[in-house]
Amino acid sequence: ARRSDGGGIVVIGLGRFGCHLARSLTRMGREVLAVDRNPEQVQRFSAQLDRVVQADSTEDGALRQLGVASFERAVVAIGASVEASVLTVLALVELGLPQIWARATSQKHAKILSSVGAHHVIFPEAETGDRVAHLIVSRLLDFI
Ligand code: ATP
Repeated sequence: ARRSDGGGIVVIGLGRFGCHLARSLTRMGREVLAVDRNPEQVQRFSAQLDRVVQADSTEDGALRQLGVASFERAVVAIGASVEASVLTVLALVELGLPQIWARATSQKHAKILSSVGAHHVIFPEAETGDRVAHLIVSRLLDFI
């Protein structure tokens, strides 16, 4: 597929993590294509994001129709459903996206995502927890 997105990013799953990610990227001036299967979420974010579409991301035909194959990068922000997250990564791999980021909720989930072909695996809850722990401890040390 021809890639002419100029830095556009597909964000799949507009839960708490995905919606913050999509809004930040939009504020940073990036073209964002946001995808969620829940029409209520799509409706909720349609005013804040440029392109929000309702689709089941586990269906590669649906992703293809949306033009996802022309993007350089996608982030799978689905967390709770391991099955939906893995099938979505698989669909993106089959579309040939060169940079697939995927959110994992456990080490086993992460292993599956990597073996299916995700290029970057992230742990938003664990990473935030670690960062806040360091912040708290370093702030406490200031007062000893
Ligand atoms: P968060 O912690 O970010 O709120 P969560 O783990 O509580 O996420 P999830 O169940 O992972 O919630 O769902 C995040 C979003 O992903 C939801 O808005 C949901 O509708 C969407 N989603 C889940 N499965 C699919 C799918 N197959 N296709 C598209 N969107 C999906």
